Amino acid sequence: MTNPSKFIVEKLKSVLATPVALHEPRFLGNELEYVKECIETGWVSSVGKFVDRFEQDLANYTGSSYAVACVNGTAALQVALKLAGVCPGEEVLIPSLTFVATANAVSHCGATPHFVDCEEATLGLDVNQLGAYLAQMTEKRSGVPHNKKTGKRLAAIVPMHTFGHPVDLDALLSLGQEYNLPVVEDAAESLGSFYKGKHTGTFGKLGILSFNGNKIITTGGGGAILTNDEKIAKLAKHLTTTAKKPHRWEFSHDHVGYNYRLPNLNAALGCAQLEQLPDYLKKKRQLAQKYCELFQGVEGVRFFTEPDFAKSNYWLNVLLLDPEYASERDAILESTNSNGLMTRPAWQPLHTLPMYNNCPRADLSKTEGLCQRIINIPSSPFLGN
Ligand SMILES: *Cc1c(COP(=O)(O)O)cnc(C)c1O
Repeated sequence: MTNPSKFIVEKLKSVLATPVALHEPRFLGNELEYVKECIETGWVSSVGKFVDRFEQDLANYTGSSYAVACVNGTAALQVALKLAGVCPGEEVLIPSLTFVATANAVSHCGATPHFVDCEEATLGLDVNQLGAYLAQMTEKRSGVPHNKKTGKRLAAIVPMHTFGHPVDLDALLSLGQEYNLPVVEDAAESLGSFYKGKHTGTFGKLGILSFNGNKIITTGGGGAILTNDEKIAKLAKHLTTTAKKPHRWEFSHDHVGYNYRLPNLNAALGCAQLEQLPDYLKKKRQLAQKYCELFQGVEGVRFFTEPDFAKSNYWLNVLLLDPEYASERDAILESTNSNGLMTRPAWQPLHTLPMYNNCPRADLSKTEGLCQRIINIPSSPFLGN
């Protein structure tokens, strides 16, 4: 590849009409009809039939016993962590290669993110390295794992299924079991992604989804907590709806609750979007296939494909530059964006952000390397036609 940025622009332009966004929502199904129904009936806010239906539809689709709709994915993760037992002053193991919301949700619980490394095979948590790290870094106090250095309890592990690609959950779950650490899956990006045939977000004690505007389906803003535990599900619903005791007219509350419920208006959009999901997934696979062929045999760059054990939703497609080409990344970003092709680097690793750069962390050299090599390319489902 003599001039990689010129070459990549030409390749992408051969299959995409410009200008093209990174990921765009479309509302071609029952969205307007359902939202109109909310407005016409007056049920736009905190209660309504679409909230119940959306939760039921999500549970059915993911195979989770319960789904609790929330105002956004960050709020869902905060409450999920709390329900997994995360308390102020504790540490939560999370990848450094993730959207900042993962760490923010930990902070909102009063806990500290403890950053661990990612692997190239999945772009998610490197479970082998995590195992070795836990063995060296933790000590058990009455059966409970603590960070030897800080003395703080390790309260949970949060894997994130990066750009929709599942991490190796079997290995992670057995590690969690070995260390008595609950797993809470940040499946914000992986609605429609399956690990060995089972939906992501349903493996840990709890999991969360996001329906922000850039995700595979959107409710405008929204999220959900997934769990198979009935008690946890009930408490999640209770806490996210101001912990109001059910009564026809009395207003009484029994916890410091949150106003984190998803409005009916947004749930209406979600019900209609969820009807489109199978079609979106099909189109996104077609687009991924197109990209895969386009970049086959190209020197210096590889189109990232799902790990063997996974069926991914291909939420955001990834071009992975070879390490020798990492220095070309910014030139590629510059020329694709100037040519109407919206592309983006991975997030700045969280341990380098000012509010998180003093947090405990493992060796993060793979994360730092990967961040220099990832380029997200246009991924809207309708591009797969
Ligand atoms: C989108 C996202 C979230 C949550 O996002 P909200 O915008 O709060 O719905 C959390 N984690 C990851 C990795 C995400 O991509």
